[in-house]
Amino acid sequence: MVDLHGQYQHIKSEMDQAIQEVIDTTAFIKGPQVSRFEKSLLDFHNDAYAITCGNGTDALQIAMMALDFKPGDEVILPVFTYVATAEVIALLGLKPVFVDVKEDTFNLDVDQVESKITPKTVAIVPVHLFGQCADMESLLAVAERNKLFVIEDYAQAFGAQYTFKDGSVKKAGTMGTIGCTSFFPSKNLGCYGDGGALVTNDKALAEKIRIISNHGQRVKYYHDLIGVNSRLDTLQAAILDVKIKHIKSYESNRQAVADFYDKEFSETTFLTTPFRNSKSTHVFHQYTLKLKGVDRDHFRQYLESHGIPSMVYYPVPLHFQKAYQISGIGKGAFPISEKLSENVISLPIHTEMDNDQLFYICEKIKKYKA
Ligand SMILES: *Cc1c(COP(=O)(O)O)cnc(C)c1O
Repeated sequence: MVDLHGQYQHIKSEMDQAIQEVIDTTAFIKGPQVSRFEKSLLDFHNDAYAITCGNGTDALQIAMMALDFKPGDEVILPVFTYVATAEVIALLGLKPVFVDVKEDTFNLDVDQVESKITPKTVAIVPVHLFGQCADMESLLAVAERNKLFVIEDYAQAFGAQYTFKDGSVKKAGTMGTIGCTSFFPSKNLGCYGDGGALVTNDKALAEKIRIISNHGQRVKYYHDLIGVNSRLDTLQAAILDVKIKHIKSYESNRQAVADFYDKEFSETTFLTTPFRNSKSTHVFHQYTLKLKGVDRDHFRQYLESHGIPSMVYYPVPLHFQKAYQISGIGKGAFPISEKLSENVISLPIHTEMDNDQLFYICEKIKKYKA
């Protein structure tokens, strides 16, 4: 599904030098590479503040801590997503309020958000799933009408751009109150371990985020706030600062793979290729198909028998997960997510795929007989 070693080979000398530099100086925590990478992040996002942290899940948690959410507060999120979003909400004693997604974009169905808002609602967390932005224009309008914070989970959409009706263009992560992302190795910008970041253009919030992510201390051993230990290692920052220079080509490589698949599967009737939202670019963290009238397990076995990997993101919507069951919410509560969890399948997509691999995968898939 990914080829991180192949990707490394292209930037080996640059990367080895950056890593060696960190080892030579032994500034493993809070070394100069961390602020250097934060500056690169700012430049990339055209945003005011970027604060790195230990991983994407922590970024979400720190965001909610910085916004002073209190136990019992309600946070709205899509039910078809990675668990991290719901996990931090639950960990902080907040109440996750699930909303179904759109069948075409896999993203939060904003039309269903307003009916879930109560006096206890404090925030909406759109997840820009698989690499394409949620419907931010209407989501931001709902948030504004109801005075809610918006925390964007853009762990899968680093670099995606959204165009508003007035023609302004913004990067994923910079449209809401705070944007949270992950540098997990397989993400579009991935390090060689765990990493994450938050972006915001609110100065006071940025300061608070920085303090919380470092044990609540502004000055060492003086703890003003309850915080967490969540810092980006200097080594990972050095690695990311090399890779962010190549992000545009990584993005176009992924898009080329998606275009190839789209074209090859244009007449394949048992599957639907990913929907392209005219308002958002798609950075294709995943290339996710919907199967029609095909037994997914059988299809995956067929692929596997030809050496083609595939994955299911996500096989179980959050309301069916043992840890996240909410009384009164059962089967049929979120019909689109329930259906998607049964018929989606993701194909290999990464920066190192060549045409031979793509031809092979497409030929085998087109020949599949249910
Ligand atoms: C990867 C991911 C996260 C969490 O990131 P980690 O760095 O693994 O903690 C959160 N949300 C989404 C949608 C993700 O894909």
